Amino acid sequence: MATKLEYIWLDGYKPTQSLRSKTKIVKSFSGNVEELDNWSFDGSSTEQAPGGSSDCILKPVFACPDPQRKDAYLVMCEVLDSKGEPHESNGRALIQDDDNDFWFGFEQEYFLWDPQTNKPLGFPAGGYPGPQGPYYCSVGANNAYGREIVEEHLDVCLEAGLNVEGINAEVAAGQWEFQIFAKGAKEAGDQIWVARYLLERIGEKYGVSINWHCKPLGQLDWNGSGMHANFSNTLLRTANSEEKFKAVCEAFRPAVAECIAVYGADNDQRLTGKHETASIHDFSYGVSDRGASIRIPLYAVDHNWSGYLEDRRPNSAADPYKVAAVIIKTVKSANV
Ligand code: ADP
Ligand code: MN
Ligand code: MN
Ligand code: MN
Repeated sequence: MATKLEYIWLDGYKPTQSLRSKTKIVKSFSGNVEELDNWSFDGSSTEQAPGGSSDCILKPVFACPDPQRKDAYLVMCEVLDSKGEPHESNGRALIQDDDNDFWFGFEQEYFLWDPQTNKPLGFPAGGYPGPQGPYYCSVGANNAYGREIVEEHLDVCLEAGLNVEGINAEVAAGQWEFQIFAKGAKEAGDQIWVARYLLERIGEKYGVSINWHCKPLGQLDWNGSGMHANFSNTLLRTANSEEKFKAVCEAFRPAVAECIAVYGADNDQRLTGKHETASIHDFSYGVSDRGASIRIPLYAVDHNWSGYLEDRRPNSAADPYKVAAVIIKTVKSANV
């Protein structure tokens, strides 16, 4: 049966890459990504190649059913250059975790955005809704805006087989979150990108755009958007040791600049020390501390210092592949 494959990739724009995709029709497809052929695209239209030598290669790495189209799949791809080497925009290729020992749970925050008013849903034209307080985990037309879109997104993600663990309304009006967990950094990144893609496409239907910027309302008293990265490896999951946890946290201290470089554009606007963030100039960690760079969840302490850590610094527009790559590298450098 003719099957639609939506090949999805990340363009080469800096500092924030965007999703691109195009449809390939094949005679049949079993669902196993390893059966899929590479494809190509015009890299000169995506800031990934010069016009005189424009072909870039799409290498399928993750496939799942596309619940919104008949007889269709979504296919996440890595971008290779014309020689078949990972393109410099390819963050997935930087992940050094061949045995999938690293598990990641990303908390993706975002704003539903009205292109007419250029404000979040729930913001009256030319003004502001009431101050923050009632919106977080709210219900009711006074406080929760865009639930129809959020629910539809949750359903299609689950139908596609993505491992969404939950959703919630966030602290600002029109701001929401979903969480995705995977045992494997590449898989976690693939699933976040496919979930972002589905959300963007649902937004088209409603005339609502998705604002991934980490501080879309500037320095007013509104929370920014993060993409907290919860992570663990065998070391952390079986530590039984406060010392080991602290050694892993300390490994992040000399890596601040390297981490911040890939934790998303304009993060200086978000990491101010206010609104449940740490200052971008500091490094700190602490049990249950939502004002720290890295939070040690109470869960880990309660499990005799075994479990996971939460890096609160990555922002909503960060590339989860690059975030995972630098976290893995840093944890592996820990003095334990
Ligand atoms: P909060 O909003 O309190 O920071 P959430 O419940 O939104 O917490 O997110 C917690 C995340 O931690 C979830 O995505 C979950 O999958 C992830 N997580 C839990 N255990 C582990 C683990 N062992 N390794 C990696 N991530 C984990
Ligand atoms: Mn959360
Ligand atoms: Mn949140
Ligand atoms: Mn969190």
